[in-house]
Amino acid sequence: VRARVMEVTESPDVSYEDIGGLEDQMQEVRETVEMPLENPGMFDDVGIEPPSGVLLYGPPGTGKTMLAKAVANQTDATFIKMAGSELVHKFIGEGAKLVRDLFKVAREHEPAVIFIDEIDAIAATRTESKTSGDAEVQRTMMQLLAEMDGFEERGEIRIIAATNRFDMLDRAILRPGRFDRLIEVPKPGKEGRELIFEIHTRGMNVSDDVEFTALAEEADVASGADIKAICTEAGMFAIRDDRTEIRMDDFRDAWEKIQADGDETDDVSK
Ligand code: ATP
Repeated sequence: VRARVMEVTESPDVSYEDIGGLEDQMQEVRETVEMPLENPGMFDDVGIEPPSGVLLYGPPGTGKTMLAKAVANQTDATFIKMAGSELVHKFIGEGAKLVRDLFKVAREHEPAVIFIDEIDAIAATRTESKTSGDAEVQRTMMQLLAEMDGFEERGEIRIIAATNRFDMLDRAILRPGRFDRLIEVPKPGKEGRELIFEIHTRGMNVSDDVEFTALAEEADVASGADIKAICTEAGMFAIRDDRTEIRMDDFRDAWEKIQADGDETDDVSK
């Protein structure tokens, strides 16, 4: 069970240079996660507790997982990822045990960054989690809080959680000593989008006619994940046309296709 729900990576291959347009967020993650891992004595010397948990919140595909991976990479920490939804839905009755296992694995792999994606699945307000698994969800969350509250003895372990549903979170997890640093990770602005286009085309054979500034303007609602998809799809358009060089029109067609596909998916879910 452990192997299937927990993703353990000794050295994730994401670095800060791979992340576009989140300078402030990166800075804050570095201060709150990287510094205490690299220089724990500094917090002792100053006489303050480093933050135990950091919560990243914002829309899907904006780079929350990347930020967590990059900080683990930078600090040579093991990256241990678990999705909140898997914790409670896939292995009913196992949630609390999996949380205990998660921290055990982290202790065995210090320094470690624990990343809990979709934390809202285990830490939703009581009123909103009215499914039959309610008691199970509560038990899982209690175990998580217990692990975090015993944090001083925890050594070189930092916890990063992420959610797309900040509004749904049980405030208990936001108390001091728990996820007491909140970092909003929004969709990229125009400049951010341009940087993300540049990042994702680094290894691509891009024609001279491609203007990232214009693309960033046109793809005005795109997330980072959308931009990555645009770049890959643009490459596909070139291949279909039997070219090795990707042109401006390929990017435009790709963005149109991705928007159309997205609309279809929306319709299906309605
Ligand atoms: P979710 O909430 O859906 O889990 P997330 O915010 O964790 O999403 P990531 O998994 O970090 O999003 O991003 C998905 C992919 O989108 C990344 O692997 C990357 O290719 C691309 N991406 C997203 N944001 C950025 C960014 N700011 N800079 C560069 N690439 C990005």
